[in-house]
Amino acid sequence: MTAATSLELDRIRADFPCLDQEVNGRPLVYLDNASSAQKPRQVIESMRQVYERDYANIHRGQHSLSMRATAAYEQVRGKVARFLGTTNESEIIFTSGTTAGINLVAQTWGRRNLRPGDEIVLSEMEHHSNIVPWQLIAEEKGAQIRVIPMDDRGQLDLEAFAELLGPRCRMVAVAQVSNSLGTINPVAEIIAMAHRAGARVLIDGAQAAPHLRVDVRALDCDFYVFSAHKTYGPTGTGALYGKMELLEAMPPWQGGGDMIDQVSFTRTTYNVPPMKFEAGTPNIAGVIGMGAALDWMRQIGLDAIAAHEHRLLERATAAISEIEGIRIIGTAEKKASVLGFWLEGAHPHDIGAILDQYGVAIRAGHHCAQPVMQHFGLPATARASFAVYNTEDEIATFIEALRKAREFFA
Ligand code: PMP
Repeated sequence: MTAATSLELDRIRADFPCLDQEVNGRPLVYLDNASSAQKPRQVIESMRQVYERDYANIHRGQHSLSMRATAAYEQVRGKVARFLGTTNESEIIFTSGTTAGINLVAQTWGRRNLRPGDEIVLSEMEHHSNIVPWQLIAEEKGAQIRVIPMDDRGQLDLEAFAELLGPRCRMVAVAQVSNSLGTINPVAEIIAMAHRAGARVLIDGAQAAPHLRVDVRALDCDFYVFSAHKTYGPTGTGALYGKMELLEAMPPWQGGGDMIDQVSFTRTTYNVPPMKFEAGTPNIAGVIGMGAALDWMRQIGLDAIAAHEHRLLERATAAISEIEGIRIIGTAEKKASVLGFWLEGAHPHDIGAILDQYGVAIRAGHHCAQPVMQHFGLPATARASFAVYNTEDEIATFIEALRKAREFFA
């Protein structure tokens, strides 16, 4: 690592109060970033400022606090639009996260457009939140779920995908990056193929937005969703991007304040997007915190973040490969941030517990991707996942702790 990079890393780490602590008597090594990332003080401060100085309910307020809160909140719409690559802020709907965004599309676009016998194509590596919402609406509408298979490296079979793109396929919903395997899927190609077959495409960006530069207009996806808590922002916030002509044609999902135009007991008319999909008092401080997180990422530089994390992933992959009895789960050619593995003779939960004794936080389980576990015939995997604040020294600590865990089970 060059001196310049390490200096910058010190500065980056100094922004994260949570990283500066010991766990079980050792410096914390936080490698559970795919679950949720830690928060820089700029995010924490922005939310503190809202609650301490600028807090009031937003929209339709005549007093200064409400106007300040509304301005700060609405400003984030532009930040998210720029982050995702659209120039139309009205295409950005604030949600509570990825799960909420997918459910919204399934319950509105899906309810309006799916007919009995229609097909929804998902991939074998989807998170449960990009499976179950589609199953729910498919069951209701008599639609079928079809699945793009993957190979044993965790790469989607695009030839099989092409076969699935029949005339009944209405929606293709896939992750840009898999949370359990780290695979970066060729979503531009998937979107183009789906569009040629007349299907719409939703991209689950939960694991992509923290690591890759996203450009929804260049991708030409119809919907894109992500969660702020993985992009260094607060929990309970996120966004859905949708093409305006689709959002306009979709019925509302939840009814309530803000999503209406006129209400009477005989007839209610609805607001235009994005408000049509934002019923009720939203997570005001959370959205403002999401804006601060995107500012923070932009200031560090999205390409610099991706390059640093890629180096960490390569370093960790090389080091873990030398440990006897380790099988890496997810060896796709293109990967981001996630290192899933299985250690012969040890349950991943036990590995997670032992690593915690060394201050190393990883995750073990099915990662809300049970079909992936079924593919590999495993009950669970252990998963280390990297963020911009992780260091090569931390990778060394992780590998050392894993070696100790292995000795324990040998
Ligand atoms: N999709 C993927 C690929 C994910 O990694 C996650 C979070 N683990 C989700 C969807 C769901 O995100 P959230 O829980 O923030 O709604």
